[in-house]
Amino acid sequence: MSHEIRIVRGDQLPPEEKPLPRAAVTPAKVRVRKSEGAGVAIDWADGASSSWSFAFLRNACPCATCQQEREQTGRAAGEPKPKKQEVFAMYEAPARPTEVTPVGRYALQFTWNDGHTSGIYSWEYLRRLDEPRLEALAVAGKAEESL
Ligand SMILES: [Zn+2]
Repeated sequence: MSHEIRIVRGDQLPPEEKPLPRAAVTPAKVRVRKSEGAGVAIDWADGASSSWSFAFLRNACPCATCQQEREQTGRAAGEPKPKKQEVFAMYEAPARPTEVTPVGRYALQFTWNDGHTSGIYSWEYLRRLDEPRLEALAVAGKAEESL
C-alpha cells in the first residue's frame, strides 16, 4: 500500500479556488446605499470597482444554511429563488438591509429585512461574486506569487 501524497497545484483548482492578488480583495472605498435601497459598491485597491444590488447579495448569502439551500436547489450565488406559481402569491418585500455592520477589517454583515443575519460577506467573497473578472485575476494572482 502506497501512501502517496497528492499535491494539488494552483492551476488544477477551479477558478474560484485560485488565489486572488491582495489588491483585488482590499477595498479602497465601500459605499452602502442603504437609504436609496440601491445596493453596495466597492472600489478595490487594484483600481477595479464592483457593485451588487441588495437582492443579489441576499441571494448570495454565504452562511452555511443558505449555501446548502442553494446547492440543493442548484442555484448559483446571487440567483433569485424561482417564483412560486400561486394564484394568490404573497407579496414579498424586496430584500434590503436594515443594518450593515463592518466585521473587523475583513467583512460586512447585513441584517436583512426578512430577519436573516447569519451571513458574513468577506471582501474576498464579495470580489469573487464579481465573476467576469475572476479568470483574469486568478492568472494575475499566480504571476504575483511567482515574483
Ligand atoms: Zn444565509
